[in-house]
Amino acid sequence: MGASDVDPPRDCPLCPRLVAFHRGNRAAYPDFFNAPVPSFGPADGRLLIVGLAPGLRGANRTGRPFTGDYAGDLLYATLIAHGFARGTYDKRPDDGLELVDCRITNAVRCVPPENKPVGSEVSACRPFLVNTIAGMPNLQAILVLGSLAHGATLAALGLRKSACKFGHNAVHPLPDGRTLVSSYHCSRYNTNTGKLTAEMFHAVFGTVRALLDGPPATRS
Ligand code: URA
Repeated sequence: MGASDVDPPRDCPLCPRLVAFHRGNRAAYPDFFNAPVPSFGPADGRLLIVGLAPGLRGANRTGRPFTGDYAGDLLYATLIAHGFARGTYDKRPDDGLELVDCRITNAVRCVPPENKPVGSEVSACRPFLVNTIAGMPNLQAILVLGSLAHGATLAALGLRKSACKFGHNAVHPLPDGRTLVSSYHCSRYNTNTGKLTAEMFHAVFGTVRALLDGPPATRS
C-alpha cells in the first residue's frame, strides 16, 4: 500500500452522518478545510500520536490535526518542549512547524457533530488507522489521547479492549514488541476541570521519551 492510500479521500463516503455534517459545514464555512484531515508528520517517525477527531474550528478548519484549537496549544507546546517538534506553533498549517520522529493522526478523520463520533464511525475509519500504523516502518511507541483513541487503536492492532486498560500515563507492552502509552486527552474540558494538568501531560511525554531513548542519565 502506497503512502497516498493511507489517508481517506476528500469525498470519503463511509459515514453518512459525517458526510452530511461536512455538507452543512461547507455551506456554512466555505473557507474551512471541511474534509477528512490527513495525518501530520514524518512516516518514518518512531512515535505515533492518536487523537480523537478533528474539532470543528480546529483541524476541520485548518486541515492539520490539532491545529487551531485549544487542545493543539497544549499538545504542540509539549511536543516542542520534548523535542518531538521544532519551529513555532502558530495555529496555522503554514506556520512551518515540523514534527520530529513523530506523526499525529486521529481515530476518526472527519469532524463529528458535538465532537462525538459514534461507534460505527470509529469502526468505519479503522482501516485508515491500520494503514497509518502499517505505513510507519520505524514505529516503536503509540501514544493514545483519551479512551476512545485507546479503544480504536487496540482494535486497529487486532487486540481486545481488555488487553490493556486505559489509564493516564499507563504503559502497555504490545505483543509485537512496540509499546502503547495512554493519556487523558488534552482537551479544554479536561484541563479546565483539572483532570489533566500541563505537568501531567509533560509526564506522559517524559515516559515516551524514556521509552524511545532510555531513561535520562542520573548524576552519581
Ligand atoms: N483536534 C484533533 O485533530 N484531534 C483531537 O482529538 C482534538 C482536536
